Amino acid sequence: MKTNLDIKALDSAHHLHPFTTHHELREQGPRVITHADGVYIYDEDENQIIDGMAGLWCVNIGYGRQELVDVAAETMKTLSYYNLFFQTTTPYVAKLADLIAEKTPEGLDQITFGSSGSEAVDTAIKLIWYYWNLEGKPEKKAIISRERAYHGSTVAGASMSGLPFMQGIFDLPLPRFHHAGPPPHYYEYAKDGESEHDFAMRCAKAVEDKILELGPENVAAFAGEPVMGAGGLMLPPEGYWQEIERICRKYDVLLWSDEVICGFGRTGEWFGCQTYGFTPDIMTMAKGVTSGYVPLSATALNKRMADPIINADTEMAHGFTYSGHPVACAVAIRNIELLDELGLVGERGAEISRYFQDKLKTLDDHPLVGETRGVGLLGALEIVKNKETKERFDPAGSAGLACRNHCFQSGVVMRAVGDAMFLCPPLVISESEIDEMFARIRKALDLTAKELDA
Ligand code: PMP
Repeated sequence: MKTNLDIKALDSAHHLHPFTTHHELREQGPRVITHADGVYIYDEDENQIIDGMAGLWCVNIGYGRQELVDVAAETMKTLSYYNLFFQTTTPYVAKLADLIAEKTPEGLDQITFGSSGSEAVDTAIKLIWYYWNLEGKPEKKAIISRERAYHGSTVAGASMSGLPFMQGIFDLPLPRFHHAGPPPHYYEYAKDGESEHDFAMRCAKAVEDKILELGPENVAAFAGEPVMGAGGLMLPPEGYWQEIERICRKYDVLLWSDEVICGFGRTGEWFGCQTYGFTPDIMTMAKGVTSGYVPLSATALNKRMADPIINADTEMAHGFTYSGHPVACAVAIRNIELLDELGLVGERGAEISRYFQDKLKTLDDHPLVGETRGVGLLGALEIVKNKETKERFDPAGSAGLACRNHCFQSGVVMRAVGDAMFLCPPLVISESEIDEMFARIRKALDLTAKELDA
């Protein structure tokens, strides 16, 4: 789509982008994406690019679904906005809460809403603190998460994330936020000869050690993404989550599953905790709940956490102007119905995930690829200089960056974190689109190898 305006110039004149080194961007100029359909995005020169990242891990249903356009337009006409303060509700939010409660694991059926994943995370933190106050244990306030976790970019979300580059420049993390490591990523952190089981136990033990260091009487909750996402797509080894659950129960620490990426079919079930077989006390979700068409997030509490809050004489003095926005709720309902109707969290989802994972494995033979790994429609590969020794290219991250650029030029979006490359395509992707995506990725890897050789 050609526009008459010089979009790049306007953008460079006035727009501060998220997570961007601005002088670099302004020297190069941004990429301009003008429209999208299915699994494809298009730039202003009409280049067709397969979106291997579903936007920012969110467009589960694919772009341009007329059903969602229609329900958004209809709801805007019927009830463009109303709030949920002052003992008021709408049919949209009531139905969505019921639908989400039906999908979450047994018992996690009290839902409150926000607009972003970070808002869901902040909400969870406040409700955890409130819960322990109501339980007469006000000293239980420490929140433990993991090194390299991503839990959002508000003051609290960034404090809980385990990524120093998003903390130091803002004088974060705040007190009460603690990080345990290593994260459960076998390829990168296992010691020579360490079995996957021993590694899983060592990673879980790091969480237990942190609880003991802080004193269990001071620890409110442990939070984790079922599959760690933005900090480096890291898959938990077998037994890890069961051990974490055991440790949380032992020390009476609430277990929090941050499902912002894993939720709504990404790992093959509705939620990542179902794929990995653990039951949290609290869950946060966003992204896939509306497939990114409109902003909406949710925090779900189990009975243990919700009952004291429901029975309290104090007001739950928390919420947002746009909590449960009717248009967002209507889109979320239709989106979840579609995921169901199309079998994307079910038989069709399982079939296409298998196809995707098989294709991902075919990249193992590429000279640059040290490891491939994935679950559901999530995938990652590690770029290395030496497959045997796992030696990386120098400087760290340069190979990932080169590969990301070659991917874009070859017509596929992959995200790079360091020298790991990620895939998270829309769940509606077809077999032939997966074939096309991996052909483009192989081409980009070949071009990357050539560049790195030179
Ligand atoms: N938690 C997790 C696990 C996430 O992946 C993200 C975003 N990538 C967030 C929270 C924050 O979500 P948002 O960007 O919508 O605030």
